[in-house]
Amino acid sequence: FDNRDGQIWFDGKFVPWRNAKIHALSHGLHYGSSVFEGERSYGGTIFKLRVHTDRLINSGRMLGFNIPYEADRIDAACRQVIKTNGLTDAYVRPLAWRGSEQMGVAASRSKIHLMIAAWAWPNPHVAKHLEGIRLDISHCWLLPPASTMPVAAKAAGLYTTKTLVKHMAEANGFDDALMMDVEGMIGECTGANIFLVFNGEIHTPIPHCFLDGITRRTAIDLLRKRGHEVVERKIPAQEIAEASEVFITGTACEITRVQQIGDFAFISGEITATLIADYRDLVLGKTKPKI
Ligand code: PMP
Repeated sequence: FDNRDGQIWFDGKFVPWRNAKIHALSHGLHYGSSVFEGERSYGGTIFKLRVHTDRLINSGRMLGFNIPYEADRIDAACRQVIKTNGLTDAYVRPLAWRGSEQMGVAASRSKIHLMIAAWAWPNPHVAKHLEGIRLDISHCWLLPPASTMPVAAKAAGLYTTKTLVKHMAEANGFDDALMMDVEGMIGECTGANIFLVFNGEIHTPIPHCFLDGITRRTAIDLLRKRGHEVVERKIPAQEIAEASEVFITGTACEITRVQQIGDFAFISGEITATLIADYRDLVLGKTKPKI
């Protein structure tokens, strides 16, 4: 992915894509001190940009560092990246990390870097839009309790197990996997939150040990606006068998229907179809966001 044309915003300046390099002794690389965002621009406008920027800044704070740019500057840089690269519909990836000034676990004097890249990346599940994706159930790796990791941060370190889980799901012929928490409750997928429909009511796990996605909160708003009951609770894994419709939410996958989790199959229902259309209208600016 490093050998392409384009410009990356790197510590306040644009550099050619191929030259956007870091030192091999960067703390972020050795000890996982990095945080990032995933944003989407539709028709040249980044959806809920300030919400993403605030989460990026807060993720850094949760890892004990301050990103050395104000939110306004980061927003402007994200917009500039889209423009400079001649993009309209794109995925935007800001990343902040501790630099290479100090070696060792302690690195409070290291410089905090920020880079922002963007590229065309359509919804990875777009081909399965109608029938839905298939989820494996991850038994190997559980989501870490909030006392063991900064789980509310979008921190790179949290993706160590997610990468393993995703690879295993793909090797098993699935599109992705559903991860559980240490109590056996339903958690999230490797890059998306999950919703299940029980008797027409929509339920989603409380994000106590994983990311409270911006798309998740947007979906809850849109569903409630339609008059649906949305319940946030701890959902035991055994209840998967009772769900009728299932969908996942995330910036990259937007709203994606799920046709199967492990051995359990779901219908292609109206709640998901309507939400997909409502989300589309919102991101395209045809309706107004609440957050
Ligand atoms: N969980 C994980 C692990 C993710 O990587 C993402 C994608 N950022 C999400 C949930 C969904 O978050 P959002 O809706 O803010 O993109």
